[in-house]
Amino acid sequence: MRPSVLDPLFAPVSSLPGVGPKSVQLYDRLLGETDRPARVLDLLFHLPQAGIDRSRSGSILDAPIGEVATFAARVVEHRPAPPGKSRAPYRVLLEDETGDVTLVFFKADAGRMRSILPVGEIRYVSGKIELWEGRRQMVHPDRVMDRRAFETMPAIEAVYGMTEGLSSRMLARTAEAALSRLPKVPEWQDAAWFAKNGFPPFADALKALHNPDDVAAITPENVARRRLAYDEMLASQLALALVRAQRKRAAGRVNSGDGKLVNALTEVLPFRLTGSQIEAGAQIRADMAKPERMLRLLQGDVGSGKTAVAMLAMASAAEAGRQSALMAPTEILARQHAMRLDNLARAIGLRLALLTGREKGQERARVLAGLADGSIHIVVGTHALFQEHVAFHDLGLAVVDEQHRFGVHQRLAIGAKGEGVDILVMTATPIPRTLALTWFGDMDVSVLREKPAGRQPITTRAVSLDRYDEVVGAVGRAIAVGAQVYWVCPLVQESETLDVAAATDRFNDLREAFRERVGLLHGQMPGREKDAAMARFVAGETAVLVSTTVIEVGVDVPNASVMVIEHAERFGLAQLHQLRGRIGRGSAASTCILLYKGPLGPVAEARIAIMRETEDGFRIAEEDLKLRGEGEVLGTRQSGMPGFRIARPEIDGDLLGAARDDARLVVERDPELISTRGEALRLLLYIFERDAAVRLLRAG
Ligand code: ADP
Ligand code: MG
Repeated sequence: MRPSVLDPLFAPVSSLPGVGPKSVQLYDRLLGETDRPARVLDLLFHLPQAGIDRSRSGSILDAPIGEVATFAARVVEHRPAPPGKSRAPYRVLLEDETGDVTLVFFKADAGRMRSILPVGEIRYVSGKIELWEGRRQMVHPDRVMDRRAFETMPAIEAVYGMTEGLSSRMLARTAEAALSRLPKVPEWQDAAWFAKNGFPPFADALKALHNPDDVAAITPENVARRRLAYDEMLASQLALALVRAQRKRAAGRVNSGDGKLVNALTEVLPFRLTGSQIEAGAQIRADMAKPERMLRLLQGDVGSGKTAVAMLAMASAAEAGRQSALMAPTEILARQHAMRLDNLARAIGLRLALLTGREKGQERARVLAGLADGSIHIVVGTHALFQEHVAFHDLGLAVVDEQHRFGVHQRLAIGAKGEGVDILVMTATPIPRTLALTWFGDMDVSVLREKPAGRQPITTRAVSLDRYDEVVGAVGRAIAVGAQVYWVCPLVQESETLDVAAATDRFNDLREAFRERVGLLHGQMPGREKDAAMARFVAGETAVLVSTTVIEVGVDVPNASVMVIEHAERFGLAQLHQLRGRIGRGSAASTCILLYKGPLGPVAEARIAIMRETEDGFRIAEEDLKLRGEGEVLGTRQSGMPGFRIARPEIDGDLLGAARDDARLVVERDPELISTRGEALRLLLYIFERDAAVRLLRAG
């Protein structure tokens, strides 16, 4: 149980003063997750991205043109829009002893103007001055204040990533309220390390970051932010170290047998395994044969054939008389895996079942019974597999496909489903070394470097959206000769509903050109319709599949050889690579068209150039890391590491090694976290939500 001293941090943002029902929704959208509201903690970790200096810059004449200036001046005259010209701006003239400036407001309310800028009074104004026909003017000042407001305003204004409807000022006010809820916590950092780095205490660091006293305090190199980044990495490394220690304590079991099923599987596979697949298969089998638990990452670029390797491992487990579970991140992918693997399983005499949130009633009861009595050898599903009421007869191996969507929590939940469960995690996202270390600690890694033979390179072209008609023409010619096409529609802001609308519109457009040969697939369709749309595409009944990014992960239709990615400029590099990985899987030459809307910003341009240049996922991942940080826009999570809110690989990578060593030492000396520092570190684990690891302490 979470120590109650931390409760204020986990209270919803709605518990803070000044947060009403309307803004709660905005905070939830900005900082919440689908299954939980935005909390005080989320707000505190949502750090300002920049600062604006609002300290007084002198007289009107001193104010630098084009930069934010703050000065005091007397209100001289109001010049409302002339009658009948309501679109003309409302102007207010101010002056001081050095000169004058005209404030310009569009759609202003005269009454309000007179109340905030009373003639004859001194007002403090902050904003950007520009020259207009030789005269100073300021369009929509950022601030108009009386003396009292000016004196209580912080000199440096924090600028936050936002969502529409929330302003930085609202965020700053709410953050202030959140700061006042910070509990007193003991220091969890090692004393010598703390002193050496000149770290501020945890609460002080948060305060300093939300109330910067100069603009430089907001740079990523700032020691307060670095402290929090280190805290976060330490929490993560400590959680991993605890999991590892527990894994060593809980002995595994031998999970392979005479090799008969593995050999039989190799025979029935419709292709010859690549050298990489054979090697990875052997590494996994060797791990499984050891009486220790396996925790191995299988890393292989899109299309490298990870599924077959997983199937080999599952056959190994079956040889030892144990069950396997394969967990996929999406419903579509789970179904696809089940369909593919079922044939193979049957061919070698194993029984496979599918279990997702959608199997209901009798069907579900049958699967649950089969898992409980051991008559089902392999189960494929979504995270529904690891819900509490699913019980296995004897689970020996859990395979987690596309790991980046799962965290330590899920991993622990899997381990709890059996005795000494071996875990194989597969990821298509090539993970640069620093990241791999952060996520998995010392997890063993197998890599599929080679792609199956006979793959043709993908030609990638960038085409402006102005040439939409030509692209439709090209798609028409491709399907006339039997090709199949994915047409991926863009992310529209953060809203799934808007994505769906965009995809539906495009579907309707393309229907006009290609009639019933066009299908539609998106996340909001009922499950059965999704299956049907996918099945029609797999069967070749539809030739063009218009979809949102739901097809990003894992979908495998080898005959599809053309992909159009609409508004490619809105996608991240990793995502473009994942999407493009859906084609180039068959023997036909493939083409990927990145349909963009210009003018492109420098980051989008660089992404598209890299996509055209290479198909190498490792290279792309590295370039991606470089481009992030620069390219991350306001409003999105600041952290470049999934699962991390503060630490940023390009800036904090240097702290990672220290965090790992620190964590190891802690676990060595104080494995139950009962020393004074150990107790404090438990709080750290809760604060950074790595507390699944705390439960191990008791279980262990
Ligand atoms: P990923 O690693 O992206 O999950 P998949 O396991 O979906 O890749 O495999 C991609 C495609 O390659 C599938 O159609 C699969 O049947 C095929 N495949 C896998 N291994 C081989 C191989 N050794 N030779 C030829 N095709 C293969
Ligand atoms: Mg896959």
